[in-house]
Amino acid sequence: MMCGEMTKECASRECVKCKDKLATYAQAAERSSQLIKYHQWQKDEADKVEIASSVAEVFAHLKHKLRSFLTHVYIKRKQDAHMRMLKESADGTTILLQIDFSENA
Ligand SMILES: [Zn+2]
Repeated sequence: MMCGEMTKECASRECVKCKDKLATYAQAAERSSQLIKYHQWQKDEADKVEIASSVAEVFAHLKHKLRSFLTHVYIKRKQDAHMRMLKESADGTTILLQIDFSENA
């Protein structure tokens, strides 16, 4: 669905090499009559519910969320690579702290 090495353009769906690859899967999703069951967390609740949808509906839902998800993945990978570089270059006088906080406010 994307280039092997994800770039910022791939993640933002602006890469000319991979931005249209999703269309291939959309056609297959539209042709399918299969129902898919999955669990989804409910907003503002700590519960997840089982949902049954057509392949086309699930595909449309995932496509809608794809750009923000890929941006999240791209940023995470960049941060991981930077953290790995800092660890490898650390000496006996270096302290690395990794602090994570939720964006789910
Ligand atoms: Zn790409």
